[in-house]
Amino acid sequence: MAAYAEPGFSTRQVHAGSATAPATPRATPIYLTAGFTFGDLDASAAHFGTGSGFGYTRTGNPTVQAVEERLASLEGGDQAVLVSSGQAAVTVALLALAGAGDHVIVSEHIYEGTRGLLLDNLVRLGIETTFVDTSDLDAWRDAITPRTRAFFAETLSNARNDVLDVAAISAIGREHGIPLVVDSTFTTPYLLRPIEHGAAVVVHSASKFLAGQGAVLGGVIVDDGRFDAAASGHRFPHLVQTDRLGGASFAEKHGARARGAYIRESVAPRFGPAPSPLNAFLIGQGIETLSLRVERQSQNALAVARWLEARPEVERVDYVGLESHPHFALGQRYLTRGSGSVFTVTLRGGLEAARHVVQSVRLITHMTHLGDVRSLVLHPQSTSHSARTVEERERAGVFPGTIRLSIGIEDIADILADLEQALVGVPAAERETVVL
Ligand SMILES: *Cc1c(COP(=O)(O)O)cnc(C)c1O
Repeated sequence: MAAYAEPGFSTRQVHAGSATAPATPRATPIYLTAGFTFGDLDASAAHFGTGSGFGYTRTGNPTVQAVEERLASLEGGDQAVLVSSGQAAVTVALLALAGAGDHVIVSEHIYEGTRGLLLDNLVRLGIETTFVDTSDLDAWRDAITPRTRAFFAETLSNARNDVLDVAAISAIGREHGIPLVVDSTFTTPYLLRPIEHGAAVVVHSASKFLAGQGAVLGGVIVDDGRFDAAASGHRFPHLVQTDRLGGASFAEKHGARARGAYIRESVAPRFGPAPSPLNAFLIGQGIETLSLRVERQSQNALAVARWLEARPEVERVDYVGLESHPHFALGQRYLTRGSGSVFTVTLRGGLEAARHVVQSVRLITHMTHLGDVRSLVLHPQSTSHSARTVEERERAGVFPGTIRLSIGIEDIADILADLEQALVGVPAAERETVVL
């Protein structure tokens, strides 16, 4: 036998040059690796026993963890779990709370993907949903049953731009031990931190404002770390009962962090929507400029909304930053730094006017996305809201002539100029006599 000297070609092609040089990079490195080496047997046993250190990227990764810690901090939460999409974040949050035979109460004005998840998918797992009018506090209260496991709503509704009264709705839930889960995608932690107002769990599509550049998908679940086993353990037996092997319950092991720990240790890694460390890196990069982008986007959106509201081609603008919006006062209370960048405008000329505008814009991109640095437009009736009845659409503020805008960070003059040229040829109202 030859001495243990020069390894063979096949060995060198996978091992040579893989020793990492010790260095302390300023930017978070992309740990693009399926797993991590264990120092010794005790370290691997400890990892499997208590979750200490890193073992496998589906259960933890340093690039992912850096983004999670940043988001938990920005939301004022206890811990965050990053997943592969916003849809995965909603799914994980709901599956952490509800199971077969359980019930959730959900705002009727929610993202169509979430509505479909509840109506088509979770119902097959035995989870029933009652949809309620978001602003009707009695409707939330009246829908509660002994099997209700969560309230779910979005901070700003699409398309009417209604503001969620987080404090009022979470207070109703708390009386019954029911957590409020808030999809805060439209507002981001820069504009609103629902946990500070009593929400228990916040979810985001990180594909939108958090990443900001429109290059990747991601989602996050942020838990408040305020699980109260005495007040709500009866609704969440999976958090307070001994585990399958008779060991300590999540509540015994983690106290007020039990729900967050269950999301991180059980639901997310088992259902498996792990984020790519590369995508996590890009989301982390995006978050570094979140405040600057959202501030500019909100300023631009307000300017566009005001400009549109004064145009004769426009019937209504549903932007909560406008004094004419029914939730303006509520918006001023919750959204002190700006009202976000996503809103709808309804044209007097109906479907053909909407068709003309989405096909005539040049700077603004016609696509289904939002929260991008670029301004975007979409026609909800024929796309995001096409699975709803006419009556449901009208309640949501979606008419044939409605278009949804997501305003970006471009120069405001250029956005307005694009809309101005896109409105050429669109039917306008008779000019009213202005009395001065
Ligand atoms: C986009 C979006 C989602 C879904 O997120 P994905 O990242 O596309 O899976 C959920 N909720 C809201 C409010 C969204 O805008």
